[in-house]
Amino acid sequence: MTSPRAQRIRILGLPLDDVTLVEAVNLAKSWCTDAGTLRQIVTLNPEMVMAARRDPAFRAVIETATLVTADGIGLIAAAWLRGTPLRGRVTGVDLVEAFAAAGLRLFLLGAAPGVAERAAGVLEQRFGATVVGTWAGSPRPEDASAALVRIAATCPQVLCVAYGAPAQDLWIARHRSELTLAGVRIALGVGGTFDYLAGIVPRPPVMIRRLGLEWLYRLIRQPWRWRRQLVLPYFAALATLEAIRARLGPAT
Ligand code: UDP
Repeated sequence: MTSPRAQRIRILGLPLDDVTLVEAVNLAKSWCTDAGTLRQIVTLNPEMVMAARRDPAFRAVIETATLVTADGIGLIAAAWLRGTPLRGRVTGVDLVEAFAAAGLRLFLLGAAPGVAERAAGVLEQRFGATVVGTWAGSPRPEDASAALVRIAATCPQVLCVAYGAPAQDLWIARHRSELTLAGVRIALGVGGTFDYLAGIVPRPPVMIRRLGLEWLYRLIRQPWRWRRQLVLPYFAALATLEAIRARLGPAT
């Protein structure tokens, strides 16, 4: 199977799949039995949508990803306004934990030195994960070969890359052929997931997540993010405008 069964919608020109966590994990398990192909998963949030509008290379990576999940209340709201509601959010942390619980062989690449090891320990303890390797590395081109050698030596099925968006998603796309040769079946950018798992950055309480206020929690705990979050009101305005246009129908 080459494409997800999930319905694909578009928000501000970018693809987004209506997929639940259970469906995403079932798809991932089926992809792991499919030799010779690497599938990229993108967990999309509004900041990434705005970045992709300015960066054609990043846009191309999102377009060619096999699965694009909604990571962020902004995309859930935008899809709902558009009249094509999604069934839920699927975040990087959700996917990594579910892949761990499903027994897939994981390699954790990225984050500060030591963090991926700690995240691996937590995944092994909580979910009985099989983490075959960890490496901090960096998204710099000169550091790629050290990471690729380690990945090839450990034969993971799933590569989780924590270099922040868009660097992590571009890194995967840039090294697609080496990763395919190394036997990696699924690669995904996971942002701050290892920091959460390792307990370096606290994960928002469940109620805050359910209310869709994760962005506000992150802004309070990590105030240096305010500059990155400046694009969010702009995203909201553009998405609302697009929804109004879609509901009014094509101009005659
Ligand atoms: N990171 C890294 N190398 C870099 C830039 C970022 O390892 O050159 C890591 C950083 O330590 C963190 C993750 O990438 O673990 C990105 O976290 P962030 O919270 O910014 O990502 P987001 O979830 O917002 O995409």
